[in-house]
Amino acid sequence: MECIFCRIAEKRSSARIVYEDEHALAFEDINPQAPVHLLIIPRRHISTNLELTEEDNRLVGHLLQVANRVAAEKGIAGRGFRLVINCNPEAGQTVYHLHLHLLGGRTMHWPPG
Ligand code: 5GP
Ligand code: ZN
Repeated sequence: MECIFCRIAEKRSSARIVYEDEHALAFEDINPQAPVHLLIIPRRHISTNLELTEEDNRLVGHLLQVANRVAAEKGIAGRGFRLVINCNPEAGQTVYHLHLHLLGGRTMHWPPG
């Protein structure tokens, strides 16, 4: 089956995109778990964070910069937000295209469950 996040990156599936550039996109999660729930992805297909190599260090830093930027734009940077990467089945990963969840706009709980 084709990767849904590759499809979104290629504009062959629709999503509410809030930021995009040459290397990354941020868009609204279809099933939000918080008032702000964005997904930040690399354009390039990377299945899980375990697949990252040293060559991807710049890209990973860039994804964090995008997260900071969209958190600020959504007005939650100062209040606080959470970044989550689910890796493999026990963590609950369902889409095998690397993504950061950015969650905010409410108090987060810990441990996350
Ligand atoms: P995971 O469980 O893999 O960490 O997270 C996958 C996330 O992608 C889930 O929060 C799910 O709601 C979201 N998602 C799955 N399919 C789509 C889609 O087609 N569009 C959007 N915007 N989000 C999706
Ligand atoms: Zn993909």
